[in-house]
Amino acid sequence: MTRADAVLNATAVTEHPPVVEIVNAHKAYGANQVLDGIDLAIAKGTVTVILGPSGSGKSTLLRAINHLERLDVGYVAVHGEPIGVKRHGQRLKELPERAILKQRAKIGFVFQNFNLFPHLTVLENITEAPVAHRLKSVSEARRSAENLLARVGLADKAEAYPRQLSGGQQQRVAIARALALEPELILFDEPTSALDPELVGEVLSVIKDLASTGTTLVVVTHEIGFAREVADRVIFLDRGKIVEQGTPAGVLDNPSTPRCRDFLDKVL
Ligand code: ADP
Ligand code: MG
Repeated sequence: MTRADAVLNATAVTEHPPVVEIVNAHKAYGANQVLDGIDLAIAKGTVTVILGPSGSGKSTLLRAINHLERLDVGYVAVHGEPIGVKRHGQRLKELPERAILKQRAKIGFVFQNFNLFPHLTVLENITEAPVAHRLKSVSEARRSAENLLARVGLADKAEAYPRQLSGGQQQRVAIARALALEPELILFDEPTSALDPELVGEVLSVIKDLASTGTTLVVVTHEIGFAREVADRVIFLDRGKIVEQGTPAGVLDNPSTPRCRDFLDKVL
C-alpha cells in the first residue's frame, strides 16, 4: 500500500488507529467561529499539508491537536484517547492535566518564529525538555542532541546562542528540539514564513528528510512546491472548514472549488 492509500484508508483500517483523530472540532472566539466542524484523521508515517488564507483557522487547528487550545465542541484523540466534548454536547470524561501533558509530549511543535530559549545554548535548548520530563539523563540527552544537531547540519553550533544564528539555523535547531522528545507526530506552523527567501530551502530540506524517514508530519505552509513534492495529502481550510482535500495533484492542479482556486492563484 502506498502512503497515499494509507491516508485514504486511515479511518477504515481499525487495527491501525490513526496517530491523531479530530472529530467535529468547533472553536469560536466570541462571534468568530474559527473552527467550524473539522473532522480529520492523521495516519502514521504520512505527511499532511494544510493550506488556507490568513485567518482561516490553521494555527488554531494545530494548537487544538496539541491541546494548547480547548475545543468548544468536538474532540481530539491521540492514539484513541479522546479529550474534549463529543457530538450533541455529551461531555467526555475530563482527563486530568497529566493525561493532556502525556499526549502533548508525543507531539512536537515547530513555530513560525522558532521560539528558542534565548538564554540557553543550542545544545541546552535541545536537552531541556527531555531532561525536565525525565526521559533521559543529562549525558544521554547531550549525546542524543549532538546526533540531532548533526542530522540538521549544525554539529558545530552546539555551544552557540540563538541570537548568533541565522533564522534558518534557528529553525533547524527548533526542529532538532522537537525531535529530541521522539514525538510520534510533528506539527509545523508556517515554519519558513519568517525566513529570508534564501534560507527557506535549508529548512524545507530538513523537513523533507524527516518525511522520507517516515515521521508523521502535519505542515501548515504556503510553499506549494514543497506540498507537491512531499505531501501525501493536501487540505485546504477556509473559514474554519475543510473545503477541499486530496492528493497534491488533485488539490493543487485541479481544485474543485472557486475558493481554493482563488487562493492558489494568489500564492502561486
Ligand atoms: P490562520 O493560522 O489560518 O491565519 P488562526 O487560527 O491564527 O488563523 O486564526 C483564526 C481566527 O481566529 C482569526 O480571525 C484570528 O484573529 C482569531 N483568533 C486566533 N486566536 C485568537 C485568540 N486567542 N483570541 C481571539 N481571536 C483569535
Ligand atoms: Mg497561522
